[in-house]
Amino acid sequence: MIAEILCVGTELLMGQVLNTNAYFLSRRLSALGVSQYHQTVVGDNADRLEEAYRLALSRADVVVTSGGLGPTVDDITKRVAAKIAGKELVRNPEAEEMLRARFARFNRPMTPNNLSQTMFTPDATLLPNPHGTAPGAIVPMGGGKVVIHLPGPPAELQPMWIDHAEPWLRARSGKTLVSRYIRIFGMGESEVDQCLSDLETGSNPSLSPYCSPGEVLLRATACADTTEAAEALLLPLLEEVRTRLGDVIYAVEENDAGSLARCAVEALKRRGWTIATAESLTGGLMASSMVEIPGASCVVKGGFVTYQTESKTLLTGVPAELIDRHGVVSAEVARAMAEGARERLGTDVAISATGLAGPDGGTPETPVGTVFVGLATAEATRVLPLRLTGDRTRIRTLTMKHAMYAVLKEAERN
Ligand code: ATP
Repeated sequence: MIAEILCVGTELLMGQVLNTNAYFLSRRLSALGVSQYHQTVVGDNADRLEEAYRLALSRADVVVTSGGLGPTVDDITKRVAAKIAGKELVRNPEAEEMLRARFARFNRPMTPNNLSQTMFTPDATLLPNPHGTAPGAIVPMGGGKVVIHLPGPPAELQPMWIDHAEPWLRARSGKTLVSRYIRIFGMGESEVDQCLSDLETGSNPSLSPYCSPGEVLLRATACADTTEAAEALLLPLLEEVRTRLGDVIYAVEENDAGSLARCAVEALKRRGWTIATAESLTGGLMASSMVEIPGASCVVKGGFVTYQTESKTLLTGVPAELIDRHGVVSAEVARAMAEGARERLGTDVAISATGLAGPDGGTPETPVGTVFVGLATAEATRVLPLRLTGDRTRIRTLTMKHAMYAVLKEAERN
């Protein structure tokens, strides 16, 4: 099955709205194993929209539209599709009932133009929209092709896609797709690629790499008549990847919602450990990335943002004399920050970071990207010296990831 995403809205062309719907839909479609070769953004103009539809329908089985379902005159997405299908839009009683019920629930009067949202071709399958007024629809376009209409607001589009459109597509394909997400930290993309290039050429099961700062995510996918058969296809591939990459794999998961911070929090939870943070260049990023994980309150006790030099002394008790002697970006200060945070908050573990995120302030001895991550436990304190590259954001993000990886490994250690 080939799908094509068609996002409608002049605001997208003007750069007023970031096209997150295309991002969301393309990820979901590829996770379903649906091929995509093109994507289009078109403004609220009937002629240009018609042209875009015709082109998309000439090369895809399923055209997924986002936006333009609302009650205003520039909401033309359904009207133009109906014209191409050679059908009339008629009042859909089920849609009208949903809309009237929604207005009644919110005790709001319904204006006549709202009824345009209940107009569909007679053969359309409605997709309910509990988060907004405009229902979506699956519309047959002839020749076995369909258009799936989704509303523009992401808070409406995403649940409609997950709860209604995706199950419909799955049922239509008659196949089951099983994926595993293999998370790698500490090995670059090209190195991973070199190790696995022969495995990446297979189509079923398939293996595709995705990169983000410091990390590689591999998606292994198999398609078969049943879940069991797809899993059986996947198993030898997963074992081979494990054998070749070994320790750099930090998680193998069924969805791609994972992160280093989540794995670290879960490992701490399993271990029954609490953690404190002392952060200089990351300015709270380490604590925030852990707190983002639901249930983090049982492991994250608190943290210190010790950004200026004197706050390292005030908040985590780093001796001023130690800072003078070794410099604020040093292994000794990272160690003292971690030990100070651990002692002050009485946790099992503490993680710290001090470093130069740049762009200014580097010297030949301590260039931008010099970072020390400290990890203190009851047994010992370890310091990880890093030489990171990239801009300020990348250096801060990578520092946080190295710190989370260190916490994860420590919590998993016997
Ligand atoms: P409404 O009933 O709210 O008018 P609609 O289905 O007609 O919904 P649009 O009017 O096209 O949708 O867009 C409504 C809002 O949804 C936009 O102002 C924008 O904030 C958001 N939106 C639209 N398209 C996208 C997109 N591709 N990515 C992210 N947000 C989008």
